[in-house]
Amino acid sequence: MNQDYRVLLYYKYVDIENAEEFTEEHLAYCKELGLKGRILIATEGINGTVSGTVEQTDAYIAHMNANPLFADMIYKIDEAEGHAFKKMKVRYRPELVTLRLENDVDPNKTTGKHLKPKEFFEAMQQEDTVVIDARNDYEYDLGHFRGSVRPDINTFKELPQWIKENKKNFEGKKILTYCTGGVRCEKFSGWLLDEGFEDVSQLDGGIVTYGKDPEVQGELWDGQCYVFDDRISVPINRKEHVVVGKDHFSGEPCERYVNCANPECNKKILSSEENEHRYLRSCSSECREHPRNRYIAEHGLSEEEVAERLEAIREEAQVN
Ligand SMILES: [Zn+2]
Repeated sequence: MNQDYRVLLYYKYVDIENAEEFTEEHLAYCKELGLKGRILIATEGINGTVSGTVEQTDAYIAHMNANPLFADMIYKIDEAEGHAFKKMKVRYRPELVTLRLENDVDPNKTTGKHLKPKEFFEAMQQEDTVVIDARNDYEYDLGHFRGSVRPDINTFKELPQWIKENKKNFEGKKILTYCTGGVRCEKFSGWLLDEGFEDVSQLDGGIVTYGKDPEVQGELWDGQCYVFDDRISVPINRKEHVVVGKDHFSGEPCERYVNCANPECNKKILSSEENEHRYLRSCSSECREHPRNRYIAEHGLSEEEVAERLEAIREEAQVN
């Protein structure tokens, strides 16, 4: 197996002057270097995932270390067999993570206490503690810390409202938050403090760092960790692998994500290869019958063939 590639995951909240100009320069630099990935730049900092050869990623880290703004930035490094992205994108955004708060949080001033993996592992098992997953529902469904709370949200900006609606479940508790690499929790935990919660901690370096820790080895993590690149998921728990994902169609254990073939839906659904074909990779009957269904186009199915398949699914539904 060729392991000469690496994936870097990193962020830093730091004031960047002329962030839009920096975005353009950074894109040109990354392209010249031959990296691929997705980097967001805002006045409040940088958040990126990039892939490249060992030489390319080493050169990138050296380049960033030479910039006083990013000299102490921490990189989570995964070995890889090739690039984890098809393109190199560097985008300017008003926020690093989209929360759209009325009163924005500056994590350099207000944020939850950072817990190292071992400390987080121990804190999770204490009484009066509630562990809140700060990610989206589809990320949780593929894998999460055992016993953690699953916010019923599709995007991060819905999280504060969801917390407000469920406030009584968290009041007076020790709150632990976690996300993939830590960038979301920096703000979310700060918002919790602003909201009046007193005992708020976050997993330093996120789930990815937790999975690499030689001592905890990902213990108490179930399933896989969803990542926003071509790998889709990475393993975390090196002691045991408990599958928590469930096939959207059959409910069977499943860790394979596909996107609904209706381009207007595009929802992430867990599905076996067999069920992907049986149900035309569509989350619902509406999506299966959508005129621009991508599965039908990809497989060149004729109208008769589609009608036959839909009929078979309907019959099956009646039997069950
Ligand atoms: Zn759908």
